[in-house]
Amino acid sequence: MGAGTVTIVSTEDHRIATRLVTLGRQAKTPGAGLNAPLELTSTYHAGGAVNYARAGNPTWTAFEDALGSLEGGDALVFASGLAACAAVLSLVPAGGVVVAPASSYNGVVATLEDGSAAGHLEARFVDVADDAATDRALSGADLLWFESPTNPLLDVVDIADLAARAHAAGALVAVDNTFATPLLQTPLDDGVDIVVHSVTKYLSGHSDVILGATVTRDGPLRDRLQRHRLLGGAIAGPVEVWLALRGLRTMGLRFDRACANAAELAGRLAAHPQVERVRYPGFGAMISIEVAGGVPAADAVTTGVELWVHSTSLGGVESQLERRRGQALEPETTPVNLLRLSVGIEDVEDLWADLDRALTSSANG
Ligand SMILES: *Cc1c(COP(=O)(O)O)cnc(C)c1O
Repeated sequence: MGAGTVTIVSTEDHRIATRLVTLGRQAKTPGAGLNAPLELTSTYHAGGAVNYARAGNPTWTAFEDALGSLEGGDALVFASGLAACAAVLSLVPAGGVVVAPASSYNGVVATLEDGSAAGHLEARFVDVADDAATDRALSGADLLWFESPTNPLLDVVDIADLAARAHAAGALVAVDNTFATPLLQTPLDDGVDIVVHSVTKYLSGHSDVILGATVTRDGPLRDRLQRHRLLGGAIAGPVEVWLALRGLRTMGLRFDRACANAAELAGRLAAHPQVERVRYPGFGAMISIEVAGGVPAADAVTTGVELWVHSTSLGGVESQLERRRGQALEPETTPVNLLRLSVGIEDVEDLWADLDRALTSSANG
């Protein structure tokens, strides 16, 4: 293309690394800003499509257009990943049945347990690797909820197969795609009804916002989720959404680097004498390790590292680790000596030197 030629092409024609840069941009109107506006207003002049900012905001729309395109559906932004989860659970009728793996994200397990205890729903926790047990649990179910890979055991399931079996039983299927991100898998293409994200993690990528999202191709489901957001009222702030959109711009680079670092570290950790087991699905940037020497040794690693950050959460540019059972809500399916590693974008040799030293000295602690 010659200099000075402007060709408008559908951004949908481009590959994903390009679309991460272009999606949700303003139209190429002379004088318009490149970036979506950060619109701080609670209300709008009457007569437009949206009259009040609990119902919509142009910053939300820009982010939703971008994420919807990446996942191949219609996205809605929520105040957190768990707010998005609560919206999905609002689709379950009173007394309805929700099936989920026992090793799901701890906030989801706790939400389902509380809902069960209060009599709002019946939670059935199941080992989804066991087909017969899963089919039994799915009988009469309203919703199947799962992650792949799971947090923090990093188990992987056949999403299309599980979705088909849930649909045969008449259940809706929701998949939390936080760990894989649309760069590695798009569950809607596997027949899943709703994708859920903790946008807090890789999508925004800088450990500076809490945000969530749902994505679906089903118009009536989308409308029900949107109505839950409107009336539930716990909406996202436009500043957070603007930051998430900004984070998306570099996601291709960030995630490529983090995944390459993780692949290298997973191999080296497998050969480390202080590591009993490495859980790494072969893709993504999360690794869980079980440390020899139990809880004291695992805790010694968390206090022994200097470059790695000892903190909960994941998906930021900085490498983070934590012993998950140190979290009050963590289910007992998580081994006590398991450290969850969120590999960041630093130089892999620095990451390894720090981790290797902390692991080695944990043997003496
Ligand atoms: C963090 C996380 C959540 C919860 O998201 P928040 O943004 O913290 O509310 C849900 N699922 C997974 C897999 C997560 O890692």
